Amino acid sequence: MCSEILSFLCFAFRVFVNKSVTLENIKCYGFDMDYTLAIYKSPEYEGLGFEMLRDRLVSIGYPHELLRYSYDPNFPTRGLLYDSTYGNLLKVDAHGNILVCSHGFIYLTGGEIQEYYPNRFIQRDDTERFYILNTLFNLSETYLYACLVDFFTSSTRYQNCSQGFKHGDLFMSFKSMFQDVRDAMNYLHDTGSLKERTLKNLEKYVIRDPRIPELLSRIKNVAKVFLATNSDYNYTEAIMKYLLDSPSGSKNPRKSWRSYFDLVVVDTRKPLFFAEGTVLRQVDTNTGKLRIGTYTGDLQHGTVYSGGSSDIICDLLDVRGKEILYVGDHIFGDILKSKKRQGWKTFLVVPELAKELQVWQQSVTIPLNNHSLCWCCHYRHLDSGIVSGPDIGLIHSKIKKMTYTMDLCYGKMGSLLRYGSIKTLFASQLLRYADLYAASCLNLLHYPITYLFRAPSVLVRITEIYCHYCVDLHQ
Ligand SMILES: [Mg+2]
Repeated sequence: MCSEILSFLCFAFRVFVNKSVTLENIKCYGFDMDYTLAIYKSPEYEGLGFEMLRDRLVSIGYPHELLRYSYDPNFPTRGLLYDSTYGNLLKVDAHGNILVCSHGFIYLTGGEIQEYYPNRFIQRDDTERFYILNTLFNLSETYLYACLVDFFTSSTRYQNCSQGFKHGDLFMSFKSMFQDVRDAMNYLHDTGSLKERTLKNLEKYVIRDPRIPELLSRIKNVAKVFLATNSDYNYTEAIMKYLLDSPSGSKNPRKSWRSYFDLVVVDTRKPLFFAEGTVLRQVDTNTGKLRIGTYTGDLQHGTVYSGGSSDIICDLLDVRGKEILYVGDHIFGDILKSKKRQGWKTFLVVPELAKELQVWQQSVTIPLNNHSLCWCCHYRHLDSGIVSGPDIGLIHSKIKKMTYTMDLCYGKMGSLLRYGSIKTLFASQLLRYADLYAASCLNLLHYPITYLFRAPSVLVRITEIYCHYCVDLHQ
């Protein structure tokens, strides 16, 4: 095997560290289910979500021509913002500076972005206007926004206006379009129709990996393990059975999925779960129905609970926040809230990392270390006495071209984590709130259960990459 492939495999199985975590001190591991233990097959699952959303919109009156669109996994990137005033998809950094902007499938130039957003900047705290598409469930929705804008912009029946489209006496704003898509998404979740379609064809939509029971068994030998999912009991039961129950006829003794956990909590309503939470109830595992009244007893093994809060979990399991490592895929609902409100140790699952690392390995290392792209070299031996600096225009255009080419390797909206050397909003949150992160929670299998994940010792965080000619200058 060539050294490049070996080095990629090394990275793909790696757990990355933002803040040091000593596994020996972890007394309890918590797992989210969807996209954490249960990895949905991509792009099949996003494709299913897209089709169901699209069909729902058509059923409430959107034009039938929308049925011509099918999901393109190369377009959406997680972490984009939808601007409900102008219908644009935006990729921004942590402060709200716009890195990429598309209207439908058309990419806006710097000048066009400036017209929409003076200073190419947004108040990203304006959550009424800008909606963050942060989860993997949002990918199908992201693509649908682009399809809708593309369709109405190019259709001759509709007149383009700055904040929507006109058709006779009707005005459809980008905001109402956004509301319709959100409502359609809630409809799919509330009616359980997406879940129903998933359960009908689990082989097609969910990855069954034999290493999941292996990981949970190893952890359970040394620590407590709990599952906390926003999904309901019936769905959780079906998915976890598929992932963990020993298949009939296997050599291993029959083991129920619930035996891998000390505690199972469904309907958690994260992020509310990490604050005041909801009433904790017991689930009747024979019928899937909830028992009335709040559960106040001790922890019973094999019992499934519904609702509750992170404080109740700590009490039931007799652990303190800092002794818990919580593994989830939702940067806000799983990681930010558990870290900010409870001080738990956090492990973010970022499935896109596999591709991000592959592209990084293949395309970046060579040109970024290239002497011809290093502007620092042009400033060597100069000081504040020099009035006119060197001409670095050529380097700028070379870097711009390289950034653009590289971004296309990730997908049409570029990388989840960066635009050139600028970190995206998603990357900034990841660095701030996730102690550890990896492409899969299964990467933990490659480390001893007592391992010390040590954060790199850097002064703040050095992000510039210098060519070797300039290293002296910056030391
Ligand atoms: Mg999840």
